[in-house]
Amino acid sequence: LAIAPEQIQNEHLDLTAEQQHYLGRVLRLKQGDRFIIIQDKGQWWIAELIVNLPAASPQAKLIEIVSIQTELPLEIILIVALPKGDGFEEIVRCCTELGVTQFIPVISARTMLKPSSQKVERWRRIATEATEQSERQIVPTIGDPVSFKSGLLTVQSGYQYICEARGNYQSLMQELISFETGEIPNKMIIATGPEGGWTQEEIEDAIAAEFQPVSLGKRILRAVTAPIVAVSQIVGIIEI
Ligand code: SAM
Repeated sequence: LAIAPEQIQNEHLDLTAEQQHYLGRVLRLKQGDRFIIIQDKGQWWIAELIVNLPAASPQAKLIEIVSIQTELPLEIILIVALPKGDGFEEIVRCCTELGVTQFIPVISARTMLKPSSQKVERWRRIATEATEQSERQIVPTIGDPVSFKSGLLTVQSGYQYICEARGNYQSLMQELISFETGEIPNKMIIATGPEGGWTQEEIEDAIAAEFQPVSLGKRILRAVTAPIVAVSQIVGIIEI
């Protein structure tokens, strides 16, 4: 379970109604049963139920810290021009499982979606669920949607790539292979476009912001597939 700092006081936990439902009704845990919590800073702890659920606070206490590491040795930041429908939910779920640390949803010239604040909250809940499911230690952050140009300037790294379906650019994989013998970067930024792709002006803006256009292969991937493929390639090389 991902636990916010304010839910812990004197090593005791105040579980939300939703968390109590999950532990008590879905997992059927009882007083004395143990479970893992992920704290805000990425620390894992074993916690123990001190009452049967549902119950008033506190319902559990911290037992001991767990020292396992499932995080990647680098930050992966995804700038995603929002695809239509629920496409971004799929991207958040899959790319959280793969190890992305930050999502920057952007509105580009050809983005069709105008997400509500409830949508953004839903993306964050999906990221938390996927973090728990994949036994990660850090819940990736998801910013509020911003314009493509401000998204480009939000973060910086020496390794910034914009995926472009056309134009015969060097493949991302070719770039990644060159890391094998050298240093693994500590931060990579990848941008992927919407269904209608990037405009020429957006590619030029990205190049001006020091993003290198890269290809993910000869076939045109869906806007939902492209970020998942890009992140899978990075993870494959890093964890080889
Ligand atoms: N009709 C669009 C075009 O011609 O660019 C296709 C856009 S594609 C459905 C959505 C996004 O996925 C693209 O903007 C790009 O970021 C990424 N993408 C899809 N296939 C790709 C490929 N083979 N190489 C690099 N990026 C790709």
